[in-house]
Formats: sequence, structure tokens, C-alpha cells
Amino acid sequence: MMNMKISPLLIYSGRIIDPSQGIDETGSLLITEGIISWLGKGEMAPTQPGYNVLHAQGLIICPGFVDHHCHLRQPGFEEKETIATGTQAAARGGFTTICCMPNTNPPLDNKTVIDYVKSVAASEGVVRVLPIGCISRGRKGKELADMDELASAGVIGYSDDGEPAANSRLMRQALDYSLALGLPIIDHCEDTALSEGGVMNEGVISTKLGLRGIPNAAEDIIVARDLALAQLTRGWLHIAHTSTEGSVDLIRRAKDKGIKVTAEAMPHHLTLTEDKVIGCGTNAKVNPPLRTERDIQALIQGLNDNTIDIIATDHAPHTEADKASGFTLAPFGISGFETALGSLMSLVHGGQLTLNTLIAKLTGEPAKILGNKHGKLGTLAVGAKADVTIFDPDRNWVVDPGAFTSKGKNTPLAGSTLKGKVMATISQGKLVYKDDSIKLEAI
Ligand SMILES: [Zn+2]
Repeated sequence: MMNMKISPLLIYSGRIIDPSQGIDETGSLLITEGIISWLGKGEMAPTQPGYNVLHAQGLIICPGFVDHHCHLRQPGFEEKETIATGTQAAARGGFTTICCMPNTNPPLDNKTVIDYVKSVAASEGVVRVLPIGCISRGRKGKELADMDELASAGVIGYSDDGEPAANSRLMRQALDYSLALGLPIIDHCEDTALSEGGVMNEGVISTKLGLRGIPNAAEDIIVARDLALAQLTRGWLHIAHTSTEGSVDLIRRAKDKGIKVTAEAMPHHLTLTEDKVIGCGTNAKVNPPLRTERDIQALIQGLNDNTIDIIATDHAPHTEADKASGFTLAPFGISGFETALGSLMSLVHGGQLTLNTLIAKLTGEPAKILGNKHGKLGTLAVGAKADVTIFDPDRNWVVDPGAFTSKGKNTPLAGSTLKGKVMATISQGKLVYKDDSIKLEAI
């Protein structure tokens, strides 16, 4: 590494939206030695020779996005994604902190493999990577992983994602630990006996296509069980990828009762229906499956009344060969980093979510769930590490998976026009992504 002094970077004259500080106005931001050193409103900005200036007129400047749920595939599945390619794709999507799920090979169920992920992320990653540890040893659902060891290794929570914590007794024990450790148990809620063999949402389309469906009840049943266990233990339950109207209702009622539960929803579940399976085939195969308009409306309402705390991507890259193996055999998952903002902006343009709410659900709110152990995240507060995303809310672009940085080209959005595009991403003070059309000049 060259020991080069980085010039101060001035992000000049954009609309600064930082829900963590209640800011929404035109202004500029100065980054010095990786830290946000100045934030000012209006047209005035300190400029000195030696500064780099990024012109943000007409653009939104907000805290870097924080993704609570993604799959980086390393170690074990490097043909699908690596920490290097995954973090580059995250940067293109405006994400500066990403939490990776432990369903790797070996799975992230001990300190050695957590340390491995952290060291690869430090040397090859371009954004901050925070690992999630397994709930059970080997993700086998039989006995708890060493939760204390994982906590001291720095995990931000526990999950057997890809699989639910099917054994209620094990889930209870995990929630007991979560209370002691102050970290969430993130459950992939699926009654696998009920969903067995299912490849898409159970409904009119699955019947028409002759494909086995996964009913909403497969999710609702486990959400209800987990909420009962969270009430029993007073542990911290986090519901991964909420996809059904029933789950939203259950979580809302649980929050009213004071049960400690947080929940996330994904861009694809908020914007796409089961119809996408027709035409997109296995690129629309995801778990939980794309549901119906009714579920989408319930999720959006959940975001607006804070039943759903955050938006996360569930970025789940696969190879083209994996996805070409037919609807029954192909793995579940959508490559999500690079289309997240563009898809979500359709909710803002459609008047269903305000821009401020969307940004809060991608920045300050997920940062709250992470707490302050990893520094001040999800904020443009002076003194915080400079994680900044700059985007154009009105820019139209056509999704071309061939141009993705992610190795995963598996998206049901190929060829779609999205309105809203990330223009630059600054992670810990470094410009890690910049669209060609945004002007950067040294003065
Ligand atoms: Zn999952």
C-alpha cells in the first residue's frame, strides 16, 4: 500500500437527506482523512487548492446504505460470488456496510471462519463487511453454535438463513442467548414440511404452470411460533425477508404487545408479483417466493407504520448454469445489490413511500439495529466515518445483467427500465464507485 495522503473531497451542492439528523436541504459535505469534517447548507462551501470536488447538483446526497442481509458466497462458492466481487457490486448499489449470511462452506459457525471472512474483506473488499454467525453448529439445526465465541468474533447476529431454525427448543435457546448477548436471532421463517417441493408462490399462477406452490401459511406459521418464543424468552427476534400480509399483521400485533421484534423486507418482495415467474423463469425463483399485489401493499403499509423496520437486499448470486437447471432444480435467489435502489425508487415515484422514509429504511434504521459497536453508521454526522451515497432519483436506465459487477447475473429485471440510479459511493472516505457522467475535478 502506498502511504498517500488522500486529498479532501468536497461533495458540492446536492440535496442532502439524512434522516438520522432530520436533514433535508441543499448543501455540501466535506470529507477529510476519511471523516465527515463539515456539512453546510446552501451554496456556500469551503474550497481550497488541493481539494477534489464532486459535483452533486440535482442529485441526492445521503448516508451510505446499510444492508442487513446478503450472501457473499465466500468461502466455498466462489464461482457464484466472492467478497471482492460482492463488495464491488454493493458499492455500485450504494451500499457501504453489508452483513453477510453464514450459509457458506464451511458455514460461519466458529471464530476461525469469521476471522477468515473479516481478513479477506479487509484486504479485498471495498465496503464494510459485517458477518452474521450461524444459530446451529454446521447449520444443521441440531445443537447451538458457540454463540459466545461468535459474539466475541464480532458477528452482528445469528441465522441459519436458507433454512429456518426448525426446532422450537433450539430457537428458544438461541433467543435466550440473544437476550444475554444483545444480538438478534434472524430467522428465515419457513415451515419446510408445508413448503416441501415448492418452487414459487402457491396460487393461480402455480396452478396454471403446474408448479408446486409455497403457501403464505408456510411463512406465517413460523413467524407466529417465533413471536411466541420471543415473548416467552424476551429475546430479540429479527424476521428475515418478510413476504406475506399475514406476517406483517402478526409482527404489528407483537410490537403492540411489546415483544422485541424487528423485521426486514426486500426490494423484490416490495415491487414484484408472482407473475414475474412467467417470462423470467428461474430468475424469478426466490425464497420466500414473489407473492401477490395484496402482500406487496401490506409490506408497504408495514414500512410506513414501522412494523417493518428496514429494507435489506437478500442479494443471492448464482451462476447461469445453476439457474439453467430447470424450475424444480434451480436454486432460489436474485442478484440484488445493483438494482435495489432503482427498484425501490418506483415506490417513491408511485407515491407509496416518501424519499425520506426510503432513505431511513436503508440507512439510519438498519444502523440502529447494528448498534454502535461498528462505529457511527447510517449518518452524515460530522465526525463519523465518511460513508456516503449519491444518487439521481430521476435517471432512467435499462438493467443489463451483463454489465453487473456481481458474478450473479440472475435477475428478473433484465431489460427493465428503472428510474433512479446510484451515481457515486464513498466508503470510509474512499470513492469506491462513480458513474462516468458525474464530474469529479481537482481544484
Ligand atoms: Zn432466507
